[in-house]
Amino acid sequence: MATRTDRRAPKRGLAGLGELLFGPSFRHGVHPPEAKGLTEALPIRRMPFPEEIVLPLRQHTGAPSRVIASVDDRVERGDVLGVADGYVSVPVHASASGVIKDIGWWPHPSGTMDTAVRIQVDRFAPQLTRPRIVPEWRGLTPDQVRKAVQNAGVVGLGGAAFPTHVKLNPPKETAIEVLLINGAECEPYLTSDHRVMVEYPERVHFGIRVMMQCLGVDRAVIGVENNKPDAIARLRETIPEDLDIEVIGLTVKYPQGAEKMLIKAVTGREVPSGKLPMHVGAVVQNVGSIAAIAEVFETGYPLIERIVTVTGPGVRKPQNLIVPVGTKTRDVLDFCGGLTPDATEVIFGGPMMGVPQPDLDVPVMKGTSGIVVLTEKESARPQALACISCARCLAACPMFLNPSRLGQMAQLGLFERMAEEYHLEDCMLCGSCSYVCPSNIPLAQMFALGKAGLRRAQQRAREEQAEKERLEKEAAARDQAEREAAQEPARKEREVA
Ligand code: SF4
Ligand code: SF4
Repeated sequence: MATRTDRRAPKRGLAGLGELLFGPSFRHGVHPPEAKGLTEALPIRRMPFPEEIVLPLRQHTGAPSRVIASVDDRVERGDVLGVADGYVSVPVHASASGVIKDIGWWPHPSGTMDTAVRIQVDRFAPQLTRPRIVPEWRGLTPDQVRKAVQNAGVVGLGGAAFPTHVKLNPPKETAIEVLLINGAECEPYLTSDHRVMVEYPERVHFGIRVMMQCLGVDRAVIGVENNKPDAIARLRETIPEDLDIEVIGLTVKYPQGAEKMLIKAVTGREVPSGKLPMHVGAVVQNVGSIAAIAEVFETGYPLIERIVTVTGPGVRKPQNLIVPVGTKTRDVLDFCGGLTPDATEVIFGGPMMGVPQPDLDVPVMKGTSGIVVLTEKESARPQALACISCARCLAACPMFLNPSRLGQMAQLGLFERMAEEYHLEDCMLCGSCSYVCPSNIPLAQMFALGKAGLRRAQQRAREEQAEKERLEKEAAARDQAEREAAQEPARKEREVA
């Protein structure tokens, strides 16, 4: 899967940095231009239902949903189409009323083909959901809250789409002290979380309330970068009196929204290599996911729509939109006035970590926070030159890795050494190293390939080990059979005697 980590965005000038260089943060990182001005002040609008909805069964981390609907079924908005197939899995719901016209392969935003349910949307349906039971959160046990969240198909809306109910269920022996809400939105261009905090701060606080009760924690902190002063102000002025919620303004720096970076910035704690936020007493949840949780307990609605920032110099009318999950990219772009003649690249997510989409039939998924359209000017890739050992990549890496050395090994295909000696597994493909590299070396892309190569090598090693064990077992069985055959004449003689 390609990433946008080789981007050579223009550098920010020194002017204007002053007001942003205060507040807690993590060490290292970079300052790409924010480019949020196109949409940060635009209120969220709802886009109309398209003619067709395409809902992949693989929209989240973990096992894909298992389809239970059939072709020609009439479905109402909110009906379950696929059920969770295991604990780390969630259902997929119809995001519009209509008739299922196909269940089969469809282009997936990851760059592959995947199974999806296609709904011919009923143009004359009122698009209301069936009457739903709204769960009364006060009376629910943590298990019941988690079940309600899973049944609603809620996943992290920040990009990774990790099932939220799993995050709400840390092991009993792990003490959680603080709930961290990620309002950093550090990727350039994206503003959907920003608008959620400005327009729905009460919903964010309600979601926090439910999560705090479920996790049994007394304290929550919302981390917001200082380039969103209106969001900070709205969140602060709406904090319920009975909740211990703090809103912290953070230095504007990329990748502040990465879980480990946010934890470091807000609590000063470092999540050790190979460990999770819960190992330092924290659970991190994206602000959009918190709002989605709130909606489950306010309306009973499952996750069938999400807020998407459609932006970039290559789209005519940038907007923050409520989009039914499963809407095709071309329909969203058409609603935004279409592409400009010089548009060259459509990216799901931001320009640093997003995924370029060659096919505009791919649908918006639960984890699609933005659609960014770039022109030749922003997407040009200068020729990569030789490393000049300037060490800028080392100074940028928030995980304190050695990207230069990793890059040299990636070129030689030494993936196992990259992992064993240079901690490739700790690389989160944030692209900070590529961004600062004066030689334009696409480091993060190389590391993505390195990780894929490593996974393949590990898979091969597992298969070889399994094959070796199978052969050893067969050999042992053969030996045993030969020993028994050799003893057979003697046994018969004993029997005759
Ligand atoms: S090495 Fe990985 S974690 Fe470090 S800056 Fe590069 S992409 Fe980010
Ligand atoms: S920033 Fe680029 S040129 Fe400088 S050391 Fe790192 S890889 Fe080499």
